[in-house]
Amino acid sequence: MSQSARIVLAASLVLSITVSSTPAVAKTPVATGTGGAVATISEPASQAAIAILNKGGNAVDAAVAAAATLGVTDPFSCGIGGGGFMLIYLAKDKRVISIDHRETAPASFTPAVFQQNGKAMDFEQVVASGRSVGVPGTVRGWHEALDRYGSMSFKQVLAPAIDVASKGFKVNDNFSHLVQENETKFTRFPATAALYLKNGKAIAAGTTLRNPDLAKAYRELAAGGVKVFYTGKMAAAVVGAVNGNGGAITLADLANYEARLRQPVHSTYRGYDIYGMPLPSSGGVAVAQALNILEGYDLKAMPRASAEHLYLEASRLAFADRNAYLADPEYVEAPLAGLLSKDYAARRRELIRPDQASAHATAGDPYPFQNDPSVPLRPNASKLLAEGAHTTHLTVSDKDGNIVSYTYTIESWGGSGIVVPGYGFLLNNEMTDFDFSGPAPNVPEAGKRPRSSMSPTIAFKDGKPAFSIGSPGGATIITTVLQTIFNYIDLGMTMPQALNAPRLSERNGMATDVEPGFADSAQARALEKTGQHWSKTPQEIGAANALVFNPDGTVTAVSEGHRHGVGSALVQRSAH
Ligand code: GLU
Repeated sequence: MSQSARIVLAASLVLSITVSSTPAVAKTPVATGTGGAVATISEPASQAAIAILNKGGNAVDAAVAAAATLGVTDPFSCGIGGGGFMLIYLAKDKRVISIDHRETAPASFTPAVFQQNGKAMDFEQVVASGRSVGVPGTVRGWHEALDRYGSMSFKQVLAPAIDVASKGFKVNDNFSHLVQENETKFTRFPATAALYLKNGKAIAAGTTLRNPDLAKAYRELAAGGVKVFYTGKMAAAVVGAVNGNGGAITLADLANYEARLRQPVHSTYRGYDIYGMPLPSSGGVAVAQALNILEGYDLKAMPRASAEHLYLEASRLAFADRNAYLADPEYVEAPLAGLLSKDYAARRRELIRPDQASAHATAGDPYPFQNDPSVPLRPNASKLLAEGAHTTHLTVSDKDGNIVSYTYTIESWGGSGIVVPGYGFLLNNEMTDFDFSGPAPNVPEAGKRPRSSMSPTIAFKDGKPAFSIGSPGGATIITTVLQTIFNYIDLGMTMPQALNAPRLSERNGMATDVEPGFADSAQARALEKTGQHWSKTPQEIGAANALVFNPDGTVTAVSEGHRHGVGSALVQRSAH
């Protein structure tokens, strides 16, 4: 049977699409109230969180419920075939913990796994294949979160997602567009084509999509718990799907997978205590370092363009260090104390000219700023990887003051493109976050976690929660989080204004990435006076979600007002 005939047959057997007659629910990107609050990019996901909060669940329960639902409605960004980083504030204990459930490299990996004839392979050669797939961490992460800090079972928190996967949800323009962009990739894998294509073409916006296989996978998890994913038939199906497409993963790789509880990165900025994600995500360190650099300026007293120039320069310097030093802490000893020291930030600040953009920054020398200044292997290059703009971020709080800030992903849009047959979820391509050529801290190695940019963040003022923020977007995650904090704290914007402002992302590349329309604006003209310049291919940057804890005890949930099809902010009890 030809590939296309197989796809059509599989589609007619598995795909369950009908044209929906239900009207679209109006999404609200901002909501203020009391009790719990949630902001995600998907209405059904936010509703799942509120349903769990209303049943007495806490923020952790609600976050897993929302994440599982996003796995249905935003399957190209996230799901149980991927991994993530969850930051949790436990109100009773007044402490912040993080759960790293990043995908890991199978035991078969070596530093040369993405090289051919001594040269780094192209991203495109690797992505749509089993070689790009890391051992998924999501289910283990959810298990650790629920088991340690939740109050509900898998069965309870997966119920809303099972409902959406079984009954279906309305495909929007964004969803259909993402399928369209990935038609070639999805066509290569029959189970993927069966689910997301119709006659070889992207399913249209306005159709109701059901995913009974994913509902089945969630039901099995609900009944059997975490082991179902890592040791049972589902594990065998994952191994089969990866190895059947050129990968080399084993059942032992899955059975050995562990999530890690890690100490978050803690830094201070103008009276705020900021908690971010530690390595293997570079997010917390890079955001903290850039803020440390910015703290030396009286930004409020300056014209906006001068402050934004400094934001771009601080980000450029932080990225030079991030690209050179940061990787999985179980494999590489990064000079974190030095990178995070205020004195080191002051040294880096000396490189910034307030009236002139710099070209390309080189990594600094943080070692003298450490208590132990011994110098391990120094990287010899500052690498900038091509990274896309995918993933999802959600944030939830509950009536008791617990907060979850959670970013999770399958890497590229649609990950590797491989749907696990019979289980309806896409496998990640997270291994492409490694540097394909060495020597560099972030080279692939067996059991290693590739460096991430995910930056779930929670900020406090005077010991009380102030706000949470996070975003998708590859390496632009770091700049989106940084710029939103800068907009909010330094430019005095409200959180909705801070989120909706045009995004400028400087990652020590050739030019600053900006969003469509920005390059023609007066804001751009003002910044160009310092020599800042913009990339030629503007695109939407990030899809942030935030919570603000107001002095009167209410919470404001804030999602995107115009990006990614408008986000969904909900509160348990509206203040209006
Ligand atoms: N793989 C990316 C990271 O871990 C997230 C995916 C994306 O947003 O591109 O930073």
